[in-house]
Amino acid sequence: MIDCNIEVYLVVMPEEEIPMGWSIQCNVTSCKAYMWATNIVDLIDNHTDENGWFVCSQCGASGFIEKSFDLQEPGYTWELFLRGAIRLGDRDDTYQPFVFMVSYEPNEKANYIWFSYYKDLRETGGRLKLGYGPGGPPVLRTEQLLSLLRQLYDLD
Ligand SMILES: [Zn+2]
Repeated sequence: MIDCNIEVYLVVMPEEEIPMGWSIQCNVTSCKAYMWATNIVDLIDNHTDENGWFVCSQCGASGFIEKSFDLQEPGYTWELFLRGAIRLGDRDDTYQPFVFMVSYEPNEKANYIWFSYYKDLRETGGRLKLGYGPGGPPVLRTEQLLSLLRQLYDLD
């Protein structure tokens, strides 16, 4: 007998092609410039400072990217601000893990770390794919990550 009571959940694929680019907005009220990055590689390579923070190309202040995702719960959205990105891997690798620095207000301290990655196969005729979003890797409070590192350090 077939059990017909299996619940089906809609899961957003964590690895998806992002057709649109990234809109970075300057944090300074008197400037308010918008910058555009065509893809994740352009964003990390050309719109971050030496510490990974997004920068305004007009005034040099910090910038942010506003994001909103529909959640599984009907009518609920997840709103966040990407503040910067730090590469974790070797620049030449195809698989590129990185973290976004995240806050829930454009100007508050970025207290969250979001593990993400992209995979760039464009040089061999493939595509640039980005793995992030709901259904993808978790967002951790910086304190949770530091706690994990302390535990790993003790294990070592
Ligand atoms: Zn600016």
